[in-house]
Amino acid sequence: TKFVYDFTEGNKDLKDLLGGKGANLAEMTNLGLPVPPGFTITTEACKEYLDSGAEPAALRAEVTEHLDALERQMGKKLGQADNPLLVSVRSGAKFSMPGMMDTVLNIGLSDESVNGLAQQAGSERFAWDSYRRLIQMFGKTVLGVDGDLFEEALEEAKRAKGVKVDVELDAADMKKLVGQFKEIVAKETERDFPQDPREQMDLAVRAVFESWNTDRAKLYRRQERIPGDLGTAVNVCSMVFGNLGPDSGTGVAFTRDPASGHQGVYGDYLQNAQGEDVVAGIRNTVPLAELEQLDKTSYDELMQIMETLETHYKDLCDIEFTIERGKLWMLQTRVGKRTAGAAFRIATQLVDQGLIDEAEALQRVNGAQLAQLMFPRFDEKAKTELIGRGIAASPGAAVGKAVFDSYTAVKWSRSGEKVILIRRETNPDDLNGMISAEGILTSRGGKTSHAAVVARGMGKTCVCGAEELEVDTKRRCLTAPGGVVIEEGDVVSIDGSTGKIYLGEVPVVPSPVVEYFEGRMHAGADDADELVKAVHRVMAYADRVRRLRVRANADNAEDAARARRFGAQGIGLCRTEHMFLGERREMVERLILADTGEEREAALAELLPLQKGDFVELFESMDGLPVTVRLLDPPLHEFLPDITELSVRVALAESRKDSNENDLRLLQAVHRLHEQNPMLGLRGVRLGLVIPGLFAMQVQAIAEAAAARRAAKGDPRAEIMIPLVGTVQELEIVREEAEQVIAEVERAHGVELGLTLGTMIELPRAALTAGQIAESADFFSFGTNDLTQTVWGFSRDDVEASFFTAYLEKGIFGVSPFETIDKDGVGSLVRNAAEAGRATRPDLKLGVCGEHGGDPESVHFFHEVGLDYVSCSPFRIPVARLEAGRAAA
Ligand code: ADP
Ligand code: MG
Ligand code: MG
Repeated sequence: TKFVYDFTEGNKDLKDLLGGKGANLAEMTNLGLPVPPGFTITTEACKEYLDSGAEPAALRAEVTEHLDALERQMGKKLGQADNPLLVSVRSGAKFSMPGMMDTVLNIGLSDESVNGLAQQAGSERFAWDSYRRLIQMFGKTVLGVDGDLFEEALEEAKRAKGVKVDVELDAADMKKLVGQFKEIVAKETERDFPQDPREQMDLAVRAVFESWNTDRAKLYRRQERIPGDLGTAVNVCSMVFGNLGPDSGTGVAFTRDPASGHQGVYGDYLQNAQGEDVVAGIRNTVPLAELEQLDKTSYDELMQIMETLETHYKDLCDIEFTIERGKLWMLQTRVGKRTAGAAFRIATQLVDQGLIDEAEALQRVNGAQLAQLMFPRFDEKAKTELIGRGIAASPGAAVGKAVFDSYTAVKWSRSGEKVILIRRETNPDDLNGMISAEGILTSRGGKTSHAAVVARGMGKTCVCGAEELEVDTKRRCLTAPGGVVIEEGDVVSIDGSTGKIYLGEVPVVPSPVVEYFEGRMHAGADDADELVKAVHRVMAYADRVRRLRVRANADNAEDAARARRFGAQGIGLCRTEHMFLGERREMVERLILADTGEEREAALAELLPLQKGDFVELFESMDGLPVTVRLLDPPLHEFLPDITELSVRVALAESRKDSNENDLRLLQAVHRLHEQNPMLGLRGVRLGLVIPGLFAMQVQAIAEAAAARRAAKGDPRAEIMIPLVGTVQELEIVREEAEQVIAEVERAHGVELGLTLGTMIELPRAALTAGQIAESADFFSFGTNDLTQTVWGFSRDDVEASFFTAYLEKGIFGVSPFETIDKDGVGSLVRNAAEAGRATRPDLKLGVCGEHGGDPESVHFFHEVGLDYVSCSPFRIPVARLEAGRAAA
């Protein structure tokens, strides 16, 4: 295998091998853009190193070969005393993990070559500044020295000289710092800072490999669902210098606004600075537009390059660049992260520009982003106390108690508090706190600061760079201009869409996207929200191409009506047990306690008209669309009083000698029905077979409701679903009884109701014998919640609290199988059962009800398996529609 690729050898499609940074550096090189020459060590080399603990044998020679070529091209040798070549050693994985892994700049400097660099550049200060940066970065990331030690020495140097920023330190100061930094390294690592440039490089490469497995990198990957075994590539890139004086500098830019999608000039620039100074917020950056005044030639070239990149990548790109004495260099680009709203807007803008088609537009957005846009926002009409304003970095409305460190954020959120993490600026060590917080507020840094980038990635509300706020993390308080002080525990509200910060709790209102889905806002109106227009268009693209239909899980007319507004094409699951609660509970009790046939029939007769009434309403609100009604499923004891409470009541009554006959009977029944394992007990079809007349009553109610709707000139399309079937015999018996009931109703009303009868597939045995079951079923609906429980053999109600966290931490699951379908296990049963069912009955209708129906990844799976529809809760319908479209596009 080849482990090293020159930048001229790669391209943007080699991200697996070269990482995102390397692949895009190669792409830019081949586009003829000014990229400092260099080469990339592959992720394969990293993986081998991580597996075996040593670099692959062939790596060293290959690196030497590419380094030789680089030295020839540059006319300098790495770390050469009089004319040194310097390089950066940069991490870069397939998926961007901002700030998670290591990069070391200025490799090749030593006590000797620092003088060569000074001569080459004609600046002592610059050379020694570069050298102290090398020792600092190398010391921290490669040798593991506590970075604060260097920071403190630097602060002390500034204090001693009475200056505020590092550019005010001169050559002598830097030289002195180099001496101190070397002492720190020697003291902390018990060895001297390595003077051999090749050794520096090799150690840095190894450190980058190892940075793949730091705790913070692992945590970030889990959060972002990035596989843990990809490894990182390493880029060795010849150095260009932004710290050579006022005609030099470094910056970051976006080809459009990552928050709104608008085209324009977005970015930050920092004069006389190197690399990470911009992101770290060491000094205040200026808006990119000001570069035009500082250096018009470089500015114009940069604008030109940004246009080239957008047209080439056909998407928003973000960029890192450096200007060395008036010469522009491109150091990185990638398709940029964006807010959810911008993703929709950019997708439609690019369609309008003719850069992409509708199918591609669908790939530029996703259901998670749509879900984010459906979050509520702050009520504009609410009375608020504005205490400051920062940069709107990641949208959303977050309310919580102020905390000033990550540790407290995690602790408080574990005990159920909502918190806002307030920091001067964040760094990768704050990741845990950011995950726990509702929102993040910083007083420093721009749209490209760590807080902003990471929050956007996580879909978390963030306001950054609120410079007028003074954050004191030691005293745990924040002081706003008017003198308002917020202490730890005070409630604050932050608006990530406007950057506004409020004291106290601001009430929230629904998002415009929800208002649009609800039909209260129209995308066609001239003044319609831009975002709503974009969402409307993308939803239309999805609806045009998707093959899966989307139904709702809804039990009442109100939910059904909302579902319909959200685009539901029917009801995939109406649970009838909710119709047995409330004041009807007593009737159910009478049914359970019935000793004689008459008593039971009387109880059923009482329930019948009520059930019928429910169905009439439901069929009316879903007129013309299918409604799948599931017959009673849960164990009966759920309708009876709690066993402990009732026992106490009975015992108390007995001690007072006024026992209540009914309570005694109830208690007997509770004992009789008590099960060790109700989930696997008397429920579903078993109830129908054991309690005479129960299912018949429900079927009759459905049939009569359908007849009533017909009489009212409606178009009811009821489907009757039998739960928890394990064998075709169960279904046959229920079916026969149901067909008789339906026939009677049809005769009595003189109509044909066209009712169909099907079953849930939610037990492994049902899935395994689906071919037989299909003989008695008009449709299957995969109940993937129960199927997951029974296939894995664990209870959904218990595992989340008991061992799931451990499983997730150990990587046994990437995500809970109740959230995203387990394709290999549960999914393969679904796939086989669908095939077997259709083999028996080619027109068998197939759907899925259960939480997976609204989960993006699962929707793609159900599309692929060839189901006819998914059914999910009303709020998730737009997400399911979108994902079904993305799966088909
Ligand atoms: P990250 O992935 O954290 O952005 P990078 O590898 O991009 O890390 O490097 C960190 C900083 O150093 C960036 O600002 C980058 O532009 C700068 N940098 C990296 N390599 C060079 C180089 N060869 N010359 C000048 N600056 C560099
Ligand atoms: Mg970078
Ligand atoms: Mg079930």
